[in-house]
Amino acid sequence: MSSPKTYSLNVIDGPPKGFNRTEIQWADHSMNPVRAFDPKTGKTGWACVKVSPGCANCYAENLNRVYGTGRPFTAAGMKGIEVRLDMGVLRGMLRSKPVIPAKAPDGVRRVFWEDMSDIGGEWMSEDWLIEILAWCAMRPDYEHMLLTKRPAHVAKLMRSIGLDDGVAVTKRFMQRWYEHPAKTYPMRGVQPPLWPIPNVRWGTSIESQKQVYRAQELQEIPASGRFISFEPLLSRVDVRSVMKPGSVQLFIVGGESGRSARPFCLHWARSLRDQARELGAAFFMKQMGGVVAMHFDEWNALTDGGTSGSAKFKLGHGHLGRWKPHDSSGGELAEFPDDLQIREWPAPLGVRA
Ligand code: SF4
Repeated sequence: MSSPKTYSLNVIDGPPKGFNRTEIQWADHSMNPVRAFDPKTGKTGWACVKVSPGCANCYAENLNRVYGTGRPFTAAGMKGIEVRLDMGVLRGMLRSKPVIPAKAPDGVRRVFWEDMSDIGGEWMSEDWLIEILAWCAMRPDYEHMLLTKRPAHVAKLMRSIGLDDGVAVTKRFMQRWYEHPAKTYPMRGVQPPLWPIPNVRWGTSIESQKQVYRAQELQEIPASGRFISFEPLLSRVDVRSVMKPGSVQLFIVGGESGRSARPFCLHWARSLRDQARELGAAFFMKQMGGVVAMHFDEWNALTDGGTSGSAKFKLGHGHLGRWKPHDSSGGELAEFPDDLQIREWPAPLGVRA
């Protein structure tokens, strides 16, 4: 098998762009500076390669088909694509003013990088990672959430850019700092990055027991904080055999949404809630998704007893007579069973207000 192409750091220059708010419950902003350019068609969009069953109904791929390059998120779809870093997106983040109230009660604002791709994709090189971490360091009042399904690749890049002192990131940070002095951007209090960067939290996604190895790989990334997103959760998962207590500070759990959503069982969420307690992590119940498997008694409680039947499990899919969540992703906290109405936040990293 040939190794995947790694892209050199090509940039799209330009003025600052808007800094998006996000509906994602555990973040305040999302941003996608990594763009895909198709030289054949001249179209720009996003790119990724599906890596495991959690990617099957990738919303980013669907958006890319309609609004982006039109390519699928496969190795073949990456052929001929140029990956570029959009400096306007980064500059937008840098100059943004935190006017909206933070979702977390302690006021920490979290930025989710690359919700349209994988920031740790095999196509990302050391140079890409150095650049991204340098920009994270330039906005120390935000907590930067970097989520990847390829933590082994990130750990490998990290090893080669300097586990001990982060010299390469610091150099890049200084270069960017002088290009964008404080008189242009509100960068008071910014210092050369310590290592690991104090305000970066690395995360990975685990959808079933088969991907638990990623939790182990995540712990090999030098990081000030870590999180795991169990979404879309597709089976019962037990991470206790591979995780040290305290090594990951946040579990996010969610069922799948969308037309092809696969069932989500509340007992899987309860098990992860209990594991989070055992491992010293905050538990954040994000959404139940569009199709929920639950015990019949629970079904009756959630639907005010408005159903009949004797099946052990029921599936709700927004149809008449079935459980219909207020929003299509089942993300309303008040609609969750009482014992899952939990949205805890991790202790903040080295984030300055
Ligand atoms: S890694 Fe994320 S963006 Fe990439 S294909 Fe999978 S779900 Fe989509």
